[in-house]
Amino acid sequence: MSQPDIIVVGAGIAGASAAFELAASAKVTLLERESQPGYHSTGRSAAVFAPAYGNRVIRLLTAASEAFYEARLDGLAAGPVLRPRGALLIARPDQLPALTAMQAELRPQLPTLAWLDPAEILARVRTLRPSYAAAALADETARDLDVATIHQAYLTGLRRRGGRLVVDAEVRHLSCADGIWWLDTAAGQFAAPVVVNAAGAWADQLAVLAGVAPVGLVPKRRTAFLFDPGWPVDPAWPAVVDVDEQFYFKPESGLLLGSPADETPLPPCDVQPDELDVALAIDRIEQALASQVRRVPHRWAGLRSFVADRTPVLGPSERAGFHWLAGQGGYGIQTAPAMGRAAAAVITTGALPAELCALGLSAADLAADRPGLGERRPGQARPG
Ligand SMILES: Cc1cc2nc3c(=O)[nH]c(=O)nc-3n(C[C@H](O)[C@H](O)[C@H](O)COP(=O)(O)OP(=O)(O)OC[C@H]3O[C@@H](n4cnc5c(N)ncnc54)[C@H](O)[C@@H]3O)c2cc1C
Repeated sequence: MSQPDIIVVGAGIAGASAAFELAASAKVTLLERESQPGYHSTGRSAAVFAPAYGNRVIRLLTAASEAFYEARLDGLAAGPVLRPRGALLIARPDQLPALTAMQAELRPQLPTLAWLDPAEILARVRTLRPSYAAAALADETARDLDVATIHQAYLTGLRRRGGRLVVDAEVRHLSCADGIWWLDTAAGQFAAPVVVNAAGAWADQLAVLAGVAPVGLVPKRRTAFLFDPGWPVDPAWPAVVDVDEQFYFKPESGLLLGSPADETPLPPCDVQPDELDVALAIDRIEQALASQVRRVPHRWAGLRSFVADRTPVLGPSERAGFHWLAGQGGYGIQTAPAMGRAAAAVITTGALPAELCALGLSAADLAADRPGLGERRPGQARPG
């Protein structure tokens, strides 16, 4: 095989979307440690596209991703990848100040947000306890994502553009000589002048292997489970999210998908659910529901990896040819189209695409040397 122009490490949604976009103008190889791309965070999400979620940069990246998803990734996906869902951000009486503050923050970007009173809330989700929610913000722009189809569409698009995915190819050692990066992997040696670090929860560890200072990435466990609420589930119910993000639930496969919205810091690993987190979520959800959780037939957990300012890290590192694409947190699927395009533009031209600049984003918002990351020192990533 001839040498690629660019090697992307990690075939989750971040690496797959960036590899696809880069392959429009370069020869790309995508390396994945597991035999199944999507085995880690990408395959474990709650699959929600929530324009109201996250900080200013996240909301802009999400808005910039919508059209590509609506266009079925420019026809790469056979069917729609966004489905109607809607979201209710609910508040108990003691949480009303938080809901008011959230409305003030979100309204300029989401003018369609509607303030609902208790009767309007119950009309939308019959199974809520009548005395629980004092008010809610309804966001009709929230949708469900078909994550498996999106991820496969990116990988198919990469192959159609002449790119290559290599699985069972854990990168174990990196070195750079005469402008070429050499990567020793479980599937042999690969070389290219440019490496993109899309290793998810392991991105700091990969950086340290490359002699690059870590960005302070903290993988945080999030637990999810399917449950039977003891009522027939209406598949048209919106996602119900506690305004302080203490729990959420939404219809999924005839049941409800619930989460305590936990954020337990952990070293990068194949994370498993903790029974205490499931019990905590059930307790919080039962306080909001007019019924009791009957069965929990399935539970799982995944890592959402954040840097200090909870904004992704994209762009060059201090070592020539080694680029960051990390810290997608709890928003990596909904922001993937914009982040993939931004990665391709920043890596090939040094600047963000014009459509992202027009929204008010700049490369500095995402750069690895931004002040929000604090002081970075060469050394060790969190142990794994
Ligand atoms: C419970 C839960 C709910 C979520 N809900 C949502 C949601 O509703 N909406 C949303 O947008 N986001 C959601 N997220 C977040 C989203 O899943 C992540 O932001 C996203 O999947 C991160 O993608 P990634 O490609 O960076 O990481 P990953 O999918 O983890 O991919 C990284 C890949 O790198 C590989 N790798 C690591 N080290 C190496 C190496 N040395 N060599 C080769 N390969 C390597 C790994 O094997 C892995 O496959 C949720 C996450 C969780 C856990």
